[in-house]
Amino acid sequence: MAASDLINLSGLLDDAKCFALVRQHRWPEGARCPVCDSGAVIRDGHDDTQPHRQRYRCKACSGRFDDLTGTVLAGHHQPLRVWVLCLPFMGLNLSNRQIALELGLDGSDVQAMTEQLRRGLVAKAPAVELEGEVEIDEVYVVAGHKGQPAAVAKRGGSDGAASWQARRAAARWKRTSHRSSA
Ligand SMILES: [Zn+2]
Repeated sequence: MAASDLINLSGLLDDAKCFALVRQHRWPEGARCPVCDSGAVIRDGHDDTQPHRQRYRCKACSGRFDDLTGTVLAGHHQPLRVWVLCLPFMGLNLSNRQIALELGLDGSDVQAMTEQLRRGLVAKAPAVELEGEVEIDEVYVVAGHKGQPAAVAKRGGSDGAASWQARRAAARWKRTSHRSSA
């Protein structure tokens, strides 16, 4: 009988303490904006589905983020407590297979998690950087008829093509990337 049949370890962990652990590890001096690195951040409620996941707003750049934004823990389907439980098992040098057995998880899931954790809790995958001219295709803004749908229907044809050019031109825009100084 596997240990996971006896005790559901992750069920014993306290979500509030797990988020506190992440905050302490990530921001020992207090939360900082992951975009502009400002320390001028204010608390801004909690996540809708995870009540202990603190949200913040940056007073410097108006960016919004939360405890997990920019960490390897964001956007994964495993709850935070499962990630936190991996840490002591990794510290004991358990294999991915043993950890998977202990936590009742799929071996390949655990492998992906431990690989990311070894790179560091806050280490993140290289962000996609947009530089220079970025073209966004297939942007259609449908203007209203202003109460004259018949007149609009009559025009159609070349007029439609001209406004397509205008829409395309409007869809070209420049965007410089925000680089974290972290
Ligand atoms: Zn900021």
